[in-house]
Amino acid sequence: MDMQTSFLDRLFDSGLLIETGVDGLYGRSGQFEDVIAAFERLIDKFGGADGAEAIRFPPGMNRAFFEKSGYMKSFPQLAGTVHSFCGSELDHMSLLKCMEVGEDWTKDQEATDIVLTPAACYPLYPTVAKRGHLPESGALFDLQSYCFRHEPSKDPARQQLFRMREYVCMGTDKHVTDFRQNWMDRGVEMMKAVGLDVTIDVANDPFFGRAGKMLANNQRDQNLKFELLIPITSTAKPTACMSFNYHQDAFGAKWGLNFEDGSVAHTACVGFGLERIALALFHAHGLDIKEWPESVRKPLWG
Ligand code: ATP
Ligand code: ZN
Ligand code: MG
Repeated sequence: MDMQTSFLDRLFDSGLLIETGVDGLYGRSGQFEDVIAAFERLIDKFGGADGAEAIRFPPGMNRAFFEKSGYMKSFPQLAGTVHSFCGSELDHMSLLKCMEVGEDWTKDQEATDIVLTPAACYPLYPTVAKRGHLPESGALFDLQSYCFRHEPSKDPARQQLFRMREYVCMGTDKHVTDFRQNWMDRGVEMMKAVGLDVTIDVANDPFFGRAGKMLANNQRDQNLKFELLIPITSTAKPTACMSFNYHQDAFGAKWGLNFEDGSVAHTACVGFGLERIALALFHAHGLDIKEWPESVRKPLWG
């Protein structure tokens, strides 16, 4: 049995994660949720004075916005669409028949107007664009959402439905890159405060296919994505628990995020992987919160 299977098994045995029979789809115990809630309060403490506008979208987004985002060009392998039965009574009969004989009953399901949210910030850009011009001083948002990615794995740090807390900044080039740097510094400070070993490294997204390799190299060469890494399932290959993304004016141009003078806004987003951070804490300090060092409990629970 490899290391990551055994960490997952220990999480199941302790009851922190609850098996569903699907890799990467888990229930969470009250203790697990207490850690996430406490860590989110720590995030509030660090970011609370910035005056971000809080918005909470549900974990599904408008399919038209999803299509316009270009997600299917970059990450078709990760997307999850919501399909429903839209047929007649006759269709229903054949559906039930199909299920009865163990045939594929899902092939006649039809796409709805909802797609599962792939990252917390995706529903934000069209929402802000609809409001009209961005103020000169830019805009800052505080988001949290369950996100879906079709990447089943035995690694407990790679789930199919997980929560992302995000801050998203819109403004000038300088404004949003300063925002990103500020959160890189805060991220290191926060993780240190709860006794976690961190490194920051340049990164890239897993763009699909051969053309995607070029996009990934370009993203790296231009330092558009950084990750804050913490050991969870391997010390040699620590896990990305935060990411810091500079989109240049790509999202601004796509969605029409403009200042009053017509110039296109730049955007950046900073994401916390909440399950990963909780898992990093359990990995570092043990599976029983009561046994965690006082120095770790204090910044989380006061
Ligand atoms: P990875 O390289 O590990 O796949 P990512 O680059 O895809 O991560 P982002 O798209 O930047 O991650 O998402 C923001 C944050 O969400 C990540 O820093 C991570 O903490 C968290 N995250 C991403 N994918 C998962 C997942 N499958 N399960 C749990 N958390 C995740
Ligand atoms: Zn984002
Ligand atoms: Mg990924």
